[in-house]
Amino acid sequence: MSGAALGDGLRRIAFIGIGNMGWPMAARLAAAGFQVVACDVMPERAARFADEVGGEAAADAAAAVRGADAVITILPTSKQVGEAIGAMGDALTAGTLLIEMSSGVPTATRGFAESLAARDVAMIDAPVSGGVPRARTGELAIMIGGEAALVERADPVLRAMGTTLTHVGGVGAGQAMKALNNLMGAAGFLIGVEALLIGQRFGLDPAQMVDVLNNSTGMNNSTQKKFKQFVLSRRFDAGFGLELMAKDVSVALEVARDTATPAPFSALCREMWASAVKLLGPGMDHTAMAQFSERLAGEALGGGNRSGEA
Ligand code: NAD
Repeated sequence: MSGAALGDGLRRIAFIGIGNMGWPMAARLAAAGFQVVACDVMPERAARFADEVGGEAAADAAAAVRGADAVITILPTSKQVGEAIGAMGDALTAGTLLIEMSSGVPTATRGFAESLAARDVAMIDAPVSGGVPRARTGELAIMIGGEAALVERADPVLRAMGTTLTHVGGVGAGQAMKALNNLMGAAGFLIGVEALLIGQRFGLDPAQMVDVLNNSTGMNNSTQKKFKQFVLSRRFDAGFGLELMAKDVSVALEVARDTATPAPFSALCREMWASAVKLLGPGMDHTAMAQFSERLAGEALGGGNRSGEA
């Protein structure tokens, strides 16, 4: 791809966080002709990315950002973003654009943006939706917060990873939007699993229920893309962690608190996802949340074993 097509001088991209999402997103950038410098707190991930996909691997965040035109972070949450910015130190120089793509905490992101602005480092937030499959195909939905001129500058980079780019407000607004999207996804998943369990007890077939829901008004993202694929199949491997979803619901509740918006239904949803993290333990996929409801019901969906099996 030509330099002009890459746009506004953002050619060398330090990409921090080569996880479930970061890997395929960085791969899209490399395929679009950007110079990707991969970096992860687990350096073997960045090294494997450079071997298998291309670009370079940096040993640490400071080495990654040295000479970069833009820096992308896609880390679990704002805590790790703060650590990564700290690790970049003085190697992050004036004129660099930081594109924060994690599902982070809007107020934390605003704080980072303010302190970086004092060093003439610009920052926008651009969290994503669509999961690993759409990260692979470069068809993510990207919700962007920041100054219009910066958003425009980042556009060629973001278009290599997403097809629906929406500028929703000032810095932090993208992450507020993302948290509210995932609040709805988390609530839709939970209510769907409860409906399947009730139906199964009544004598309905959960798989058939999903088909009916998908042709009816009860349809949602979980009925379409999660229940058959990851719950009834007992695979529980959608590629998005349970702890990350619980974190997103908590962020949505922080936004509710900061805006003094009553949200009792959302609070119950957060309580249930947070409880599932404790009950099911670390390292679970978010679709394993179904096992939480199954344990409450004392039976698994699909007529299988008690939920403890999965
Ligand atoms: P992940 O846990 O698979 O990857 C995170 C990566 O960050 C890991 O490779 C980890 O080693 C690395 N890391 C952690 N701390 C670091 C640090 N200080 N410096 C450098 N690297 C560090 O997570 P993921 O699923 O890729 O999610 C990343 C972000 O994207 C999260 O905010 C998540 O909520 C969001 N998200 C995920 C999905 C999904 O389907 N997985 C979809 C949309 C948004």
